[in-house]
Amino acid sequence: MKPSPFSYHPAASVDEAAQLLYELEDAKILAGGQSLIPLMNFRLASPMHLIDISGLAELSEIKVSETEVEIGASVTHSQVLQSEQAGSALPLLVEAEKLIAHEVIRNRGTLCGSLAHADPAGEMTAVISVLNGRVDTASVSGGRTIEATDLFEGPLQSSLREDELIVSATFPKLGPRTVSSFREVARRHGDYAVAGAVSVVEYDNNDQVQSARAAFLSVGPVPTVVSFDDLLRGTRIEDVGHSEIYNFLSSQLEPHGDLQASADYRRHLAAEMGWASLEACI
Ligand SMILES: Cc1cc2nc3c(=O)[nH]c(=O)nc-3n(C[C@H](O)[C@H](O)[C@H](O)COP(=O)(O)OP(=O)(O)OC[C@H]3O[C@@H](n4cnc5c(N)ncnc54)[C@H](O)[C@@H]3O)c2cc1C
Repeated sequence: MKPSPFSYHPAASVDEAAQLLYELEDAKILAGGQSLIPLMNFRLASPMHLIDISGLAELSEIKVSETEVEIGASVTHSQVLQSEQAGSALPLLVEAEKLIAHEVIRNRGTLCGSLAHADPAGEMTAVISVLNGRVDTASVSGGRTIEATDLFEGPLQSSLREDELIVSATFPKLGPRTVSSFREVARRHGDYAVAGAVSVVEYDNNDQVQSARAAFLSVGPVPTVVSFDDLLRGTRIEDVGHSEIYNFLSSQLEPHGDLQASADYRRHLAAEMGWASLEACI
């Protein structure tokens, strides 16, 4: 199918994009178009105006500091994957990017677009949630910071205002005694995951768990973050073991059923992915 008629506005700057977003009725930001255009082709979205930010040099940077990795809003998934700087500062970003779609989609789709799209099956929604990252926005009334915990409100619903665009996403780096791992199951390579988990485990000087948490994708309307602190703090993951962690997760997760998986099967799969991602952090 073809989309409804729309006007195309290539923005020359972030300020212009914010101004257009404010002035035009029923306008949407266009980044990589890998989610928005299919929705428009299926007539599930029919914005009257698209404001293209994909060519903006001021949004094209990956910045790595002592403590954080910041990804600009026109940086594509492929550029994150190919960035040695980002990969060595935060290997979890690269691990997650490899699981997203196919190369042609990663070549145009952006990391920040994934976050704005707020698909609970998106890998980056889980990564930014488990790391307690944030996005920075711009609008005619000024920018603001939205913590990951406040960003996702429901399937394809974020707390971004209609007149606001994401300019960057920031991910805290992990400490030297912190390990992370991503595990998911998809029906075919490149498909959205039926269920998945990304774990972050911090160890104390005795190699016992100091804190551990996981974010789950495709199990609820928003990424679900589970803390293992009560279960694992002061112990070792292998001493607690598969059964206890599996049962704990089964009691914590409340997935939905759909055409891909029943709620029960998805709960089982998510609990196994939770265990697998924790086990990979040992
Ligand atoms: C076949 C297929 C398979 C896919 N598989 C996966 C997968 O396994 N995992 C996964 O995570 N994704 C997957 N995707 C989606 C892909 O990752 C997209 O790139 C991503 O979801 C959206 O990024 P985009 O830059 O293309 O955004 P767009 O499609 O341009 O925009 C998506 C939405 O976000 C808004 N938006 C985009 N950027 C901004 C911004 N800076 N500020 C405010 N709003 C903004 C747009 O207005 C729109 O509403 C898949 C897509 C396809 C077509």
